[in-house]
Amino acid sequence: MTSPAPTVLVFLDPAFENGRIADSSQPQLMATDLGATRGDGVFESLLAVQGRPRKVQAHLNRLSSSAAALDLVLPEQDAWRKAIDTAINEFRDVHPAPTPEEDEVVVKLIVTRGVEGAASPTCWVQASPSPAGSRRQRETGIDVVLLDRGFDTEAGERAPWLLLGAKTLSYAVNMAALRFAHKQGADDAIFTSTDGRVLEGPTSTVLLAHLETVDDGEGSVKTIRRLITPQHDSGILPGTSQGALFAAAKAAGWELGYGPLVPQDLFDADAVWLISSIRLIAPVNHINGKEIGTPSVRKQLTAELNELFAGIE
Ligand code: PLP
Repeated sequence: MTSPAPTVLVFLDPAFENGRIADSSQPQLMATDLGATRGDGVFESLLAVQGRPRKVQAHLNRLSSSAAALDLVLPEQDAWRKAIDTAINEFRDVHPAPTPEEDEVVVKLIVTRGVEGAASPTCWVQASPSPAGSRRQRETGIDVVLLDRGFDTEAGERAPWLLLGAKTLSYAVNMAALRFAHKQGADDAIFTSTDGRVLEGPTSTVLLAHLETVDDGEGSVKTIRRLITPQHDSGILPGTSQGALFAAAKAAGWELGYGPLVPQDLFDADAVWLISSIRLIAPVNHINGKEIGTPSVRKQLTAELNELFAGIE
């Protein structure tokens, strides 16, 4: 059996301080693992750029809160950090990037409830190449369709067993939404709630920008720049990229806002983006076939946000 893509696996194993490297071309998981049989577990995806994993603490924090929502007990964060470093170093040794610009590694942290009947979870780190498609979409932008998620914004609170704010392994619904969008000729989707709010993408957070020109009363005009995202308590995953970008944007003088947003807010925006840890900041060109803002404003604001994001550790 051969591995379809160069992938490095590092299992968290108390007998190996820095994690146990495993051969990704060989079977490594028991067929009775509850991650495989029930999708019962949680995960994180983060990007390592030139060997440095980005926003590690934010991802470890979210992994902990997702695990807590599923009553899963995780290994210490230090064990994760060591396994992450092992995976990145091993990947870059085996598959050196041709240029520094291409030196991006996708790092996944995966936790399952473990083998049926076992007391401990199965945990591993996976390092693999960053998909060329996501890098391209940062440049070209994407076309998006709005899709009904089938829940209202209070479902998460009313029915916590839906695990709406946790990053669980059960991503089949999110992947089905992406395939549905592709069949409509779009690149991605934005979910809306049954009570008419904008939620998130299947693998990303929604951001929009509004520019407002105001007279300062002393004969000159200034532009107020506002960055807005849907409110976190609407049953969406709190994005680590959105959180980090908002902190950087605030320091750079942007005003920040947290929903609630309706689809018309997207159509009225000067720019809309889908943002996530691997693809980073993807400008949205069209939603349901309607152009968002203008190409020049989209380009300029995207360049500005990219610069802010580049400074994030
Ligand atoms: N929302 C969902 C449903 C996601 O799956 C993701 C990331 O995969 C995000 C938002 C963005 O989160 P982050 O910026 O932490 O990657």
